[in-house]
Amino acid sequence: MQTHQFDAIIVGAGGAGLMAALYASKGGANVAVVSKLYPTRSHTGAALGGIGAALGNLDEDKPLWHAYDTVKGGDYLADQNAAKILAENAVDAVIELEHMGLPFDRTPEGRISQRRFGGHTSNFGEKPVRRACHAADRTGHMILQTLYQQCIKNEVRFFDEFHVVDVIMNQGACVGVVAIQLGTGEFHVFHGKATLFATGGWGRVWQITSNAHTLTGDGAAAVYRRGVPMQDMEFYQFHPTGLYGLGVLLTEGIRGEGGILLNKNGERFMEKYAPKIKDLASRDVVSRSIYQELRLGNGIGGKNYVHLDIRPSTVNRYLAEAGETRRVDDAYIARALAETLDLCRTYVGVDPLTEAMPIQPTAHYAMGGIPTNIDAEVVTDANWTVLPGMYAAGEVACVSVHGANRLGTNSLVDLVVFGRRGGMKIAEYVKTADFIPLPPNPTAEAEAEFKRIRASKGKTKPYTLRKKMQEVMMDKVGVYRTAKELVEAAETMRELRHAYFTDLSVDDNGYQFNTDIIEAWELGCLIDLAEVTAISANLRTESRGGHSREDFPDRNDEKWMVHTLAYRKSDNPYGTETPPVETNTDKKVDMSLAAEDPRFLPKERVY
Ligand SMILES: Cc1cc2nc3c(=O)[nH]c(=O)nc-3n(C[C@H](O)[C@H](O)[C@H](O)COP(=O)(O)OP(=O)(O)OC[C@H]3O[C@@H](n4cnc5c(N)ncnc54)[C@H](O)[C@@H]3O)c2cc1C
Repeated sequence: MQTHQFDAIIVGAGGAGLMAALYASKGGANVAVVSKLYPTRSHTGAALGGIGAALGNLDEDKPLWHAYDTVKGGDYLADQNAAKILAENAVDAVIELEHMGLPFDRTPEGRISQRRFGGHTSNFGEKPVRRACHAADRTGHMILQTLYQQCIKNEVRFFDEFHVVDVIMNQGACVGVVAIQLGTGEFHVFHGKATLFATGGWGRVWQITSNAHTLTGDGAAAVYRRGVPMQDMEFYQFHPTGLYGLGVLLTEGIRGEGGILLNKNGERFMEKYAPKIKDLASRDVVSRSIYQELRLGNGIGGKNYVHLDIRPSTVNRYLAEAGETRRVDDAYIARALAETLDLCRTYVGVDPLTEAMPIQPTAHYAMGGIPTNIDAEVVTDANWTVLPGMYAAGEVACVSVHGANRLGTNSLVDLVVFGRRGGMKIAEYVKTADFIPLPPNPTAEAEAEFKRIRASKGKTKPYTLRKKMQEVMMDKVGVYRTAKELVEAAETMRELRHAYFTDLSVDDNGYQFNTDIIEAWELGCLIDLAEVTAISANLRTESRGGHSREDFPDRNDEKWMVHTLAYRKSDNPYGTETPPVETNTDKKVDMSLAAEDPRFLPKERVY
């Protein structure tokens, strides 16, 4: 076992981790980034559509309007102090990325180009605004490359292909992590004054997902097993446009460029569900509308999908109908949506310039996660009690800036804004904090668990359990939910966990790049998070944002302007007995913008 000591340990090398690492190192901290993937393979690199900032380069725009859209899009559950920071800091964060060398698309005058996106409006919902800054449809890829270069320049130390499997706590603080070096199977301890989790989401809980295979919620599960609550886990976003059968994401930028959703009769059905903003309604609304169409038997060819049409002839027809002067042609679409065209041609053999694309909603984004304050410090209760030494940023964190439903392009903003704030806070903290010593045997429990998995001789392959989990979660904890199904889903997760601890079977018991064992461990994380999701979803007896209860179809602001917190009640991070999950709803939503401006008060949604 090797031990490494750094002021700051950043777990994860996506946009959030890299931004935090950059700013912690700029502030003078000695920083290590520990990542199971090579940094530029992180999921941030798959983000296509753009990063939202009220630059106002093409249409008049203001950060306050961006904050309003964020709060409204989040169905009023977003903490308003955080939404304000997100919108205000987005502007200089994007300009900073540009100065670091990020090759944004340009307007003819040389400014950063911006496009429309769902839920982005000017003047408090008046009309659509072009706010999404983008580098073709490869925005996330460019962010990742740019930040990685900056980190290298700033002498951040990278431990690539090191898989973090446990959090080390001592004296009530987080003092580092345990990781396995994938190439050797060896255990390493990373001892730090500050540890920031930026491990991304857990879309792999569901069967149809836009998320990469690696998005298994490791960071969230690891801290949850050590007593940190999970906040607002019932809010998981289904993106309306995943490629049928695969879930591969087709960016909202397609509809931003004028793409239209059509049912089997060629009807633009969003006119029915969101007469005002139509295809650019927020994601929860569009996903539900697609499900309604499917229930009405309006899927294409009797199947569970509808069409997304970006053919220039279709787009131009609707642009003309809307009285707009803009027109598109093949060359424009091929340039603005290069990645999309490529994905469709490769995965389903459809050429979007000549055919409509088959789409269905796909599990996409975790609004919930590790609770933090606006400086990325992890908090453990409704009183905002800070857990010393532990930080979180990016998708794994719940600031909460996205509330019940995230707006398109706001995740990339979240990464750079709160990643940066976390990095700055860490730099400040490590200047005065001392190293808290490691507890004796910090790797003991993780090593024992891996020994168990390696030696397991049961009958059930991790694959079988994963498949069952994904099917049940898709079926019962998807876009629409009922108490009965949520209770059943939670029960199934407990059964799966029992099988996981008593009857697992892995084939490979080697040490070098043993993906069999690592995937089995990741499955344990997914099951934990799936269970919390079902339990939190059952607790919230209302419909809000991405959480739609068929048995409680209305939003209930009187009772539910609160966050949910779910705690795993056990000191043993593993063990065959299913630990009870305890929930509370004591944490109120921050309403600081509404206190000054009644437009930020919850109101009925008109689409
Ligand atoms: C296909 C797709 C398109 C998207 N498009 C957009 C968009 O256009 N605009 C937008 O705003 N958002 C978009 N999103 C959402 C956004 O990209 C993600 O929410 C965001 O990139 C997450 O970034 P992150 O830094 O939190 O984590 P990620 O980029 O997911 O990185 C996670 C990091 O954690 C590391 N890690 C995980 N587990 C461990 C472990 N056990 N040990 C060590 N390291 C670990 C990984 O190696 C990786 O480096 C999109 C998402 C997807 C899936």
